[in-house]
Amino acid sequence: MRILVIGGAGYIGSHTVKQLLTRGHDVTVFDNLSLGHRRAVPAERLVVGDLRDIDHIDQLMVTSRIEAVIHFAALANVGESVKEPARYYTNNLIYSLNLLDRCRRNGIGKFVFSSTCAVYGTPAVVPIVESEKKSPINAYGNTKLAFEMALADYAAAYPFGYAALRYFNAAGAAADATIGEHHEPESHLIPIVIQAAMGKRPHVEIFGNDYPTPDGTCVRDYIHVDDLAAAHILALDKITPKSGQVYNVGIGRGYSVRDVIRTVEEVTGSKVPVKEAPRRVGDPAELIANPDKIKRELGWSAKYADLRSIVETAWNWHKSHPNGYGE
Ligand code: UDP
Repeated sequence: MRILVIGGAGYIGSHTVKQLLTRGHDVTVFDNLSLGHRRAVPAERLVVGDLRDIDHIDQLMVTSRIEAVIHFAALANVGESVKEPARYYTNNLIYSLNLLDRCRRNGIGKFVFSSTCAVYGTPAVVPIVESEKKSPINAYGNTKLAFEMALADYAAAYPFGYAALRYFNAAGAAADATIGEHHEPESHLIPIVIQAAMGKRPHVEIFGNDYPTPDGTCVRDYIHVDDLAAAHILALDKITPKSGQVYNVGIGRGYSVRDVIRTVEEVTGSKVPVKEAPRRVGDPAELIANPDKIKRELGWSAKYADLRSIVETAWNWHKSHPNGYGE
């Protein structure tokens, strides 16, 4: 299939591109490299451009005779979204709606969207099923939910189909450690804890120790980035016109911030200094997926079914790339 991957040089995008290429798809990556990395994708696949430049994308859709779009390009930092909602609505919603409409106008009938468990806000029942009430508690979740609604309306009205994948916490790196996670500045827990274990940070701050969870710290469902990438490919294969599906993508198990720190200490063999800090605005106490739907309908399952195996791949990446893509 001829696939345009928007934001394909980013963390989850690049791992998906790698798998798409292995499966023989004709992939065009479009990325402005603001958060993505040139070295994360094969040079001959990359078109450097900005989602704001919708005519550039339109041109690519036509010249490359694109059949499907996978859309990763987004700002995805919960705390930042609370402080700077304007940037989030502009990037994640306005530009994404432009992209969606160019798909419609160019007759591109398949769209895979990076959604998030943040659409559930503070869920009443955990593990979370897709039908759980959607009530985000931060701007990031609101922008993603709004776009899901646009997708549903488009699929109802036009010859268009989609899959929206509600990611839980993406983590880990490719098994061969050729690509991995690199954000500047890093805000995600697992790379931060690994950097502290490597002595690249003085300590890890634990954001809140008074949550209603077994050890007082937030619980998340960490999902290996390659399992997440595989979910995109399975979902894409199943898209049919005038239909849409949403899927939770997580392993169905939760780990606390302290579990992550302990696991990184075990895997790296190094002590991680910690500092208790206030809660981060916009963080629900516990987010765990019920992934039964994607297992049942797409035959997906997590190859990395526990935190330790995920952290091991992250550690291999950080060990071999101490400066990420900067080296
Ligand atoms: N977290 C933390 N210290 C950090 C970074 C994150 O305690 O330096 C916590 C954060 O509050 C959340 C969990 O770790 O409960 C995962 O955060 P991350 O930013 O990795 O992912 P998110 O859940 O925001 O998608």
